[in-house]
Amino acid sequence: MSANFRLILRVSFLILGMLLFSRFCYAQVDPEPIKVLINTKPVSFETSPVIENGRTLVPLRAISEALGALVKWDSKSKTITLTLNSDVIKLTIGKDQALKNAQALALDSPARIIAGNTMVPLRFIGEAFGAYVQWNPGSRTVAVNSLLPGKSQRELVVQADQLNVRSGPGTDHEALTQVSRGMRFPILDTSSDWYKVKLPSGKTGWVVAWYVKEDNQSSASGSDTTGTTGQNNSPGNNEKDEQISDKGSLNPPDEVAPPYEPSNQPAILQKISIDTEDKKVNVKISCDRQVTFNTFTLSSPDRLIIDLNNTQPGSVNTSQYINSSIADRLRIGWFSQNPDVTRLVFDLTAKVVYKVQASADTKTISMVIFVPDIYGALKGAVIVLDPGHGGNDPGAIGRTLGLAEKNVNMQVAECAAELLHSYGATVLYTRYGDQNLDLYSRAWAANNAGADVFVSIHMNSNLSPSLGGTSTYFSSNALNGQDRQEKSYQLADYIQNSLLAYLGLEDKGVRQADFVVIRETIMPAVLIEAAFLSNPIEEKLMTMEEFRESIARALVNGIGMFLASQNTAA
Ligand SMILES: [Zn+2]
Repeated sequence: MSANFRLILRVSFLILGMLLFSRFCYAQVDPEPIKVLINTKPVSFETSPVIENGRTLVPLRAISEALGALVKWDSKSKTITLTLNSDVIKLTIGKDQALKNAQALALDSPARIIAGNTMVPLRFIGEAFGAYVQWNPGSRTVAVNSLLPGKSQRELVVQADQLNVRSGPGTDHEALTQVSRGMRFPILDTSSDWYKVKLPSGKTGWVVAWYVKEDNQSSASGSDTTGTTGQNNSPGNNEKDEQISDKGSLNPPDEVAPPYEPSNQPAILQKISIDTEDKKVNVKISCDRQVTFNTFTLSSPDRLIIDLNNTQPGSVNTSQYINSSIADRLRIGWFSQNPDVTRLVFDLTAKVVYKVQASADTKTISMVIFVPDIYGALKGAVIVLDPGHGGNDPGAIGRTLGLAEKNVNMQVAECAAELLHSYGATVLYTRYGDQNLDLYSRAWAANNAGADVFVSIHMNSNLSPSLGGTSTYFSSNALNGQDRQEKSYQLADYIQNSLLAYLGLEDKGVRQADFVVIRETIMPAVLIEAAFLSNPIEEKLMTMEEFRESIARALVNGIGMFLASQNTAA
């Protein structure tokens, strides 16, 4: 009997076993208090969080401090105003409707006063500020992870040679002093087009927003302020496009010397053509010179953003209707000046995947946005799952509970196999039981099986117990072709994003590595490190069936997104 056939036989047997003994993870009834993690750090509360209508309510003060949001309380109208960067959220005690930047949003559970404490819905607030919120019923933990790598400090940088600082938000207020280009000030408050800042003297004043740039610098990132990527990705700038979308009507007040002329001539956006099909939108963006871009998505509401760097919006319409079931509208705004960034925002009405490609001369960008048919893509696909380690090699050992990585990897693989199988995929394992298996044999098994996708499942470890989070590896070794290398990267990207969304752990990124299993395979191949066994909190999570199932679901979703994106021609 060939080894390959034995492998398939074992898998068939295993799947039969799973059908007979399938037990799906049930949430336990647990009297433990609810824990809240913000950017993986536990938050303590004087008043315990409560669950109402399936939503966690937390004390307002603690949560706003943890998120770094400013809070205003109006006792007359019983309204709470939370401000984080440029997002403003208004909640009224007992009201099931909230406002985000003047847009009405429904609440499952309104803000309440319980035993004299103002309690607010955690998920709503987290998501309204652009964070991922994940509830783990097993550990009774709510994980809130902002899209920023670190805690942001709100600062602005003066973009004009001389700028007035006034006693209030308007040119009718007295000018107190002037500040110059490049000076940085902490932001204390905002009022329509004005920022309240703290001056070095300790005094406060107001500057007009046209001649400053907000810079949400990570507190850990030192003094590098030249990169605009982090800034554009920050949730704080989510809605800035709203302010600038009608740029034609803005007349900056006469506050400054003539604007600085950049030496690097910006590109001008010339044309955007949109072509819709059923559940698919094709977009072509043309500029008069070379452009670079960043794309990212935002939730609540769902948006897809593409920032064109060093580009001005020219005379294109600032809003275009998209006649499609997946997107309503495209808005175009002059997101920042000096440097110029033109922002395109697609208002989405469905969960989509997208492909972006620049032309050879990088003057034209083509985008395809579409709904992935995950079920259709998985049906008939051959997926090889590689539970890392086994036999004499336990892999990492958990720091506090002593969990062996090989067992966790296997449990996750089994759960993923069950799900994949239910979607009509053929699933093969590299190892069936707790046995020794060398790395080359794992890659060889996948190559022989003619797999469409290979996923090696691992848990991470580090000497530092505080280190935690999720990473996904691909091999940049072109041994098995440039195309496979690119597809492995895409697979890694979809899986990593899916893991982050399902687990809510820290983003340790998509990374390159020359691991044997992902180098020697000939199909798109990745290796995941879902969480850290050396981190006591994450090791505890790994004991929970719900958490392992979340890893499995994230894998299946990521694999499905990848396969679906390959099926649709760009
Ligand atoms: Zn491992």
